[in-house]
Amino acid sequence: MQIIKYISDLDTVLAEFRKQGKPIGFVPTMGALHDGHLSLINQSVSDNPVTVASIYVNPTQFNDQTDLKNYPRNPGTDRKLLESVKCNILFVPDDKEMYPEKDNRVFDFGFLDEIMEGEKRPGHFNGVAQIVTKLFDAVKPDRAYFGKKDFQQIAIIKKIVGDLNYDIEIIACPIVREKDGLAMSSRNTLLKEQERKEAVKIYETLQQIQKRIKYTDIDELKKYALKAINHTKHLKLDYLQIVNTKTLIPVNKITKKEPVTACIAVYAGNIRLIDNLDLFT
Ligand code: AMP
Repeated sequence: MQIIKYISDLDTVLAEFRKQGKPIGFVPTMGALHDGHLSLINQSVSDNPVTVASIYVNPTQFNDQTDLKNYPRNPGTDRKLLESVKCNILFVPDDKEMYPEKDNRVFDFGFLDEIMEGEKRPGHFNGVAQIVTKLFDAVKPDRAYFGKKDFQQIAIIKKIVGDLNYDIEIIACPIVREKDGLAMSSRNTLLKEQERKEAVKIYETLQQIQKRIKYTDIDELKKYALKAINHTKHLKLDYLQIVNTKTLIPVNKITKKEPVTACIAVYAGNIRLIDNLDLFT
């Protein structure tokens, strides 16, 4: 695996593959890799002759500076893991390379940015768009892989690709979970023992909602989630939202005609975790 720090070097290496007509798959990450990340790399490796992964903890998408400071970083282990899944190129830029100047671009996501993560984390998706466009411009991939764990992020990325005419296929990959159901996340390593045990309740709550959706109205489901989460000692519900899977518009009534996804954000102690589940699968 080649490890590259500078966009100019990346350009030189990738130009050669492009000349040979080899499609490039790209997996952007913030590191502290786990099996969720590796599933995206595996998918890219099986779809493309060349896979580029990036590790960069992007400051502009953190609306909470303590979260940025405490974000787990594991460069040595990450490299070994990426080698083990046959990633070809690891791009590890620093802040100067990605933001030589302050990025003042403001993106318009319309409604997509007004709910859930957009509402609760002001500026988060604008920061995501800033870094993802910079990385897309640097790597110029044919395909880019994102996890459904960040359900709303995928909708945002697809909007950027459409609005800015990027010729990149966006591939959404399934959520990888721990044995007990907790969605894998780099932030899980920050949980204290008791918080980690209780965090199982997040996925359990989504599963309960999936079971009840046909018989219970949405307000009742929200009340159920609030009670189930907040009655667990170290958990606190930030939101539960049931939205149309494609448009992300909150659903007031379940009709079997539209696919819906339940999205949840929960504080386990000070650590904020998100998860989601398609309800009609
Ligand atoms: P992050 O390093 O958290 O920015 O995540 C990098 C990519 O990995 C994003 O596209 C995430 O959606 C994806 N990802 C993170 N956790 C999981 C998971 N448990 N299952 C599948 N994909 C994931």
